[in-house]
Amino acid sequence: MIPAFTPVPDEALVGGKWRQADGPKTLVLNPATATVLQEVSQCSAADVDEAVARGAEAAADPAWRDLLPHQRARYLHAIADAVEAGGDRLAELQSFNTGKALRETKALVASAIGTFRYFAAVLETSDEAKTTSRGDYVTWVKHEPIGVVGAIAPWNSPVASDAQKIAPALAAGNAVVLKPAEWTPLVSLALARLIMDSGLPAGLLSVLPGRGSVVGDAIVRHPGIGKVSFTGGTETGRGIAHIAAEKLMPVSLELGGKSPTMVLDDADIEQAVAGVMYGIFSSSGQSCIAGSRLFVAESLYDEFLEKLVARTKLLTVGNGFDDATRVGPLVHPKHRDSVAAYVDLAREEGGTVLCGGSTPDDPALADGSYYLPTIIDGLDNSARVCQEEIFGPVLVAMPFRDEEDLVAKANDSVFGLASGIWTRDYRRALRLADRIQAGTVWINTYKAFSISTPFGGVKESGLDTEKGREGIAAYSRTKGIYLGMSDTPNPWAPSAP
Ligand code: NAP
Repeated sequence: MIPAFTPVPDEALVGGKWRQADGPKTLVLNPATATVLQEVSQCSAADVDEAVARGAEAAADPAWRDLLPHQRARYLHAIADAVEAGGDRLAELQSFNTGKALRETKALVASAIGTFRYFAAVLETSDEAKTTSRGDYVTWVKHEPIGVVGAIAPWNSPVASDAQKIAPALAAGNAVVLKPAEWTPLVSLALARLIMDSGLPAGLLSVLPGRGSVVGDAIVRHPGIGKVSFTGGTETGRGIAHIAAEKLMPVSLELGGKSPTMVLDDADIEQAVAGVMYGIFSSSGQSCIAGSRLFVAESLYDEFLEKLVARTKLLTVGNGFDDATRVGPLVHPKHRDSVAAYVDLAREEGGTVLCGGSTPDDPALADGSYYLPTIIDGLDNSARVCQEEIFGPVLVAMPFRDEEDLVAKANDSVFGLASGIWTRDYRRALRLADRIQAGTVWINTYKAFSISTPFGGVKESGLDTEKGREGIAAYSRTKGIYLGMSDTPNPWAPSAP
C-alpha cells in the first residue's frame, strides 16, 4: 500500500537556524506519478555566507573543538540512534522523491546508520602515529579539522551519500555545509532535523537546498570553505576541480562510471545472470557503479544473452511502494527522456534492442517516468552508448574473444569506477582484477558494499576515496610535531664569547 505523503517543512537549515529561504521555489516531484509532492524554497549565495560564518564559529568553539575523540564519537552515535528511530520516514521520503523501491531505500537508510556508527568507532579507535625519528627529537603526526567543509550531493541516493560525507566530516571535527540535489531535497532536510534533534551543536550542519549553479557554486568558491566533497557527474566535477585549483583547495570527487561486467566462459551462469541483472537494473540503473557494459565470452554469448533477456523481461516495473517492484520509475521525466534518447541513439548507431527500449504499456504507469529494462547488442565498444554514462536501466552487451581482447575493451573507457568478473577460476579472476582500471572490482558478486572498504574512482570517475578508516583523514589536515630532546644548544649558533 502506498502511504500518505507528509511534507517536510519548507525550511532550510542555515547556520543552525531553520528558516524559509527566499529564493524561487523548486517543485519537488513524485516520479511515480509526475505529480508535485511539495514546494521547497531555494537558498541563495547570501545563505551560503551565513552558513559558512556560523559553521566556522561552531567548529572553532572550544565546546566542539576541544572534544576528545571518544567524546565526539558520542555525537555520531546519537545521530545514528536518531536516524534509526526516524528511519522509516526517511526511507519513505526517499521512495516518494526518487521513485526507488522501498526495499532499496530501507537498505540505504540502514547503510547511513552504519556509516555514522562506523565513523564513531573509527574515531574512538584511531591512534596518532609517532613517526620514526632521525635526530635528537621525538616526532609525531596530528590530524586536525579543516574547519568548514562543503558537501555537494547527487539525487540518486541522498540518505546514503549525505551520511557518507557528514559522518567523516563531523568525526574529523569540522562543520558541514551540505547542498542536496535540486530534484531531491526532502531526505536531506528530514535527515538534518533528526541530526539536530539528536543534540549536535547549532551551526555544525547547514543544509541548503537550491541550484547547483547558485548554491553549489557559492559553496565551492567561498573562501571560508576549506574542502569540498562532491558526488555527481564528471563534467560538474571537472568544473569544481578548476575552481578548487584556483583556491588551492582539496577536493574529493566521486564521479560517473560506465562499468564493465565480464562473464568468462567458465562462469556459474545462474549466478552471473542474476548478478548482471542486479548490477544494472536495481535502482533502475541510476547508480554510479551500475554494470552498464556487459562483456561475455564469445563461446557463451548467445546462450547467456538468451537467458539474460528472458529473465529481464520478468522484472516487475512499478511503483516503489509495491512489494513486487524491482524497477521503479526514473527520478524525473527529464531524466527518463534523456535515457530514452540514448536508446534512440543506440538504434541510430546500428544497435539491436533485445528487450525494453520503450516506456511500459501498462496504463497504470503512463504518468510516471518509467522506462523498461533494456538490453542492446550489435554495437562496438566505441559507440557513444557504450562510452557515455546513461544512468538508466540500459545495458549494452558485447562478446569478447580472449583475455587480451577483454582487458582492452573493458579498459577502453574514460571512466574507471567499478567492474565485475564472473568466473569459477580465481586465478583468472585475480589476474583480470589486477589489469582492470577501476576503483572497485567485484568477483562473483556485484554492488556489495562495506563501509570499511575505501571507495573511489580512477580516470574520469574521480579523485580521492571515501569510506574506510582513512575516510576521516580525507576531512583532516595533517600536522607534524617535533619535540626536541637535546639538552645542549644548537651548535650552529656561535657560542657565547
Ligand atoms: P550533477 O548534475 O553533477 O549534480 C550533482 C550535484 O552537483 C547536485 O547537487 C547539483 O545541483 C550540483 N551542481 C550542479 N552544478 C554545480 C556547480 N556548477 N557547482 C557546484 N555544484 C553543482 O549530477 P547528478 O545528475 O545529480 O547525479 C548523477 C551523477 O552522479 C552521475 O554521473 C553519477 O555517476 C554520479 N554519481 C557518482 C557517485 C560516485 O560515488 N562516484 C555516486 C552517485 C552518483 P543541482 O541538482 O541543482 O543541479
